[in-house]
Amino acid sequence: MTTETNSKGYRLPPWFKVKAPGGKNYVELRNLLRDSELHTVCEEAKCPNIGDCWDRRAATFMILGDICTRACRYCAVTSGKPLGLDLGEPDRLARTVERLGLKYVVITSVNRDDLPDRGAFVLLNVS
Ligand code: SF4
Repeated sequence: MTTETNSKGYRLPPWFKVKAPGGKNYVELRNLLRDSELHTVCEEAKCPNIGDCWDRRAATFMILGDICTRACRYCAVTSGKPLGLDLGEPDRLARTVERLGLKYVVITSVNRDDLPDRGAFVLLNVS
């Protein structure tokens, strides 16, 4: 088993080094998400595993926009005042999941404290 060393000379196990984003599946997924105007917590939270996960076609979708009304200090998701509610997002997400041929998906959301029902309404809007 080979080992890497960090900047201080400490030995690190091989699995500690993450794959750089840019593989075929990564690029395909990124382009599809751009075209579909969808968000993932993978990108918004700057997850270091994105190169590996997306290359294995694993992603965590993030709904209700990309701006969170809370500002947890440990989280890299943008916080602030969201700009409205995108009622087409659930359908675009469903179509994208179908195009990707996924058997199951993981979906999370930003907090929407600006909405009376915190955004639950949008989930009832899937056709
Ligand atoms: S699926 Fe989870 S672990 Fe993988 S890149 Fe996305 S947020 Fe990170």
